[in-house]
Amino acid sequence: MSALLGAIEAGGTKFVCVVARDAATILAERRMATTTPAATLGAAEEFFATVSSEMGALSAIGVASFGPLDIRRSSPTYGRLLATPKPGWANVDLVARFATRFSCPVVLDTDVNAAALAEALHGAGRGCGVVVYVTVGTGIGGGIVVGGHAVHGALHPEMGHIRVLRHERDRALPGVCAFHGDCLEGLASGSAIRARYGAPLDSLPAGHEAPEIVGYYLGQLAATIVLMISPECIVFGGGVMNNDRVLPELRSTATRFLNGYLPAAGPRSLDELIVAPGLGARSGIVGAITLAESALT
Ligand code: ZN
Repeated sequence: MSALLGAIEAGGTKFVCVVARDAATILAERRMATTTPAATLGAAEEFFATVSSEMGALSAIGVASFGPLDIRRSSPTYGRLLATPKPGWANVDLVARFATRFSCPVVLDTDVNAAALAEALHGAGRGCGVVVYVTVGTGIGGGIVVGGHAVHGALHPEMGHIRVLRHERDRALPGVCAFHGDCLEGLASGSAIRARYGAPLDSLPAGHEAPEIVGYYLGQLAATIVLMISPECIVFGGGVMNNDRVLPELRSTATRFLNGYLPAAGPRSLDELIVAPGLGARSGIVGAITLAESALT
């Protein structure tokens, strides 16, 4: 019998916890609202304890969390959330309590790095050596996977905050990023869409300009990624991408910005290179399972 793995997708509004044999074999799953650290982490612990009492000891736990996170193994504060604006969660340890309670390794990474790993190994980027995953939701984040490993560097990539050229019909909004105003996240995130139009993208009428404006900004990130990283696959996921007009607008802008300089994209066309998630909304939790698996190899 293969190992029993615990996995947590820790989001700002909900936690998804599963026990699995591998990415394709989920044995038990529970969702809980993200309230206080004591209540939410306690509920996750109880779920694992209950399943474990029926099925056996967990071999490893993977945690894919909202950030920012300290994921440097050598750091004295490894495993902690850093200065998150979510009340009560700053400095909360996401590793030690599970490692102690279940006496197994616990691997932590950002939710977007974990999703990138999942898409690279099991989703749209399977078979590709260099994969980038971008999530466009309340905020915008991106993870880079090279040879089956998420790139960390000094902290983790924050490609949602690059500077972009303003759309000619979008001059009024100052941008909603607390740090940069009209960076990409400040102009194209779900928060920016609400600030500009007073409603989320999926409740705006058909034919609304929003997908074109948002796609114009996200396409600039796609072009920048192509030029800087030369990936074999770029996956765009997250709630904003559920609007089916955004991805074509994004590809069209990336094509215009690259202006025929396609050797940068290799033999694949941009339509083949820039794709929707292969795992749908499951990238995050599959990524957390993949993190747990990584502890055993
Ligand atoms: Zn910013």
